[in-house]
Amino acid sequence: MTKRLKKLFTPDYMFPDLLQVDFQTLADQGYKLILLDIDNTLALHGASVADDYARQVIGRVQEAGLVCQIITNAMWKRARQYAAGLDVSVRAQAGKPSTYGIRKACLAAGIAPEQCVMIGDQLLTDVLAARRAGCLAILVRPRTTKEPWTIQARRKLENFFWGRRDHLD
Ligand SMILES: [Mg+2]
Repeated sequence: MTKRLKKLFTPDYMFPDLLQVDFQTLADQGYKLILLDIDNTLALHGASVADDYARQVIGRVQEAGLVCQIITNAMWKRARQYAAGLDVSVRAQAGKPSTYGIRKACLAAGIAPEQCVMIGDQLLTDVLAARRAGCLAILVRPRTTKEPWTIQARRKLENFFWGRRDHLD
């Protein structure tokens, strides 16, 4: 694998879950916008109602003074329904690993991609989109192993990358 190609598939940081991410440090480092994936990042796969875990995460992001937005490949109907339980805006059918959704979110927030952090549970969608867009890429472990076989197949690749940095420096 070439160096450039490897970089596209390597997150900047990895954490066991969203509650381990130090959002205050990200804010101190100059980041302004946090983009969060829904399925198996904020929520259990397929959820359409936000739970306490998600509310806690959003609370921490907002306490750190960061703008938070949900960015998902899920359909608009479920994404809107899910986000309604949280005080955040949502961008559905984002087409990750396309950079379209991330670029639109940065433009709307009036910030450069370098000031944006994308957090998700999948290398081939979340991390690749973040890398291609030029923002910070954080990979978290999936909240549950209950997910479609198509996604389970991609996990083999993700497991290869685990064991790297899990702290912000
Ligand atoms: Mg996901």
